[in-house]
Amino acid sequence: MTSLAPTVAAFGGTAYERSVLGVWCKIQASLFGYRLLRILFENGTKQVILITSVADPDKAGATVLARGSSFQNAYPVGYRLPGPVPAGTLYGTGLGSPSLLEFNPNAPAGGIDPDVTLLHELVHAYRQACGRWSPLPILRFVKPTTVTDSNTENNRFGNWEEWFAVVCEGIYAAEMGAHSVRTTHNNNLPYFAMEMSGQSQSRVFADKFGPAIVRIRNTEPLIYSVMRSSNAWFNPIREYEDLLMDFDTPGPFPKNFDVPN
Ligand SMILES: [Zn+2]
Repeated sequence: MTSLAPTVAAFGGTAYERSVLGVWCKIQASLFGYRLLRILFENGTKQVILITSVADPDKAGATVLARGSSFQNAYPVGYRLPGPVPAGTLYGTGLGSPSLLEFNPNAPAGGIDPDVTLLHELVHAYRQACGRWSPLPILRFVKPTTVTDSNTENNRFGNWEEWFAVVCEGIYAAEMGAHSVRTTHNNNLPYFAMEMSGQSQSRVFADKFGPAIVRIRNTEPLIYSVMRSSNAWFNPIREYEDLLMDFDTPGPFPKNFDVPN
């Protein structure tokens, strides 16, 4: 077992743990990654996150929610648990839950980089550890006028938690030098943002997901401020705030919301 932070450890033999440590250090070498990890694990929860190998070598990673009595602790108070749940556990408790983070430090062919995957999964683990895991349908947090097909929209991210983790990984990947980042959680759907394009795809994304961005500010204010302060070219949080200030571009609010003159 190799300790990575007070509440995070890797387990799976010397070679595996060394690889995970290498990926962990790579994340810490970026400003956004460093600040995010500090919030996630030095400033927050006492729940344990154990990083272990994936059973399927074609899989990059997954965060497995604790079962049994811990299950409901991952969800906020009052959150109705999805799917079949153990008797007597209809609602979340908000107490926080440990999680098992399955991670493959050798990315499967064609997959995203291992550090990007690990950062994504750590965001999930943190949300569960804090008892704030609330995978509400992403459709509730999309600007309605940008939705042409609600099925496609749902398939793109599914829920807000996946959307949030994908935005975190996008800011990180862009800061690490990626010229394109995925803007979908469904790898069968060809959504991505490119650094070089006629219009800022980061800004288009910010406009579409304005309500989802507001939810970050409401539920994760510390992470919100770290996201906003990244200089990455993909940064929907910064773009969202710029849109609010920019009276020449149709923003998240209608024009007549402006101060009358
Ligand atoms: Zn995910």
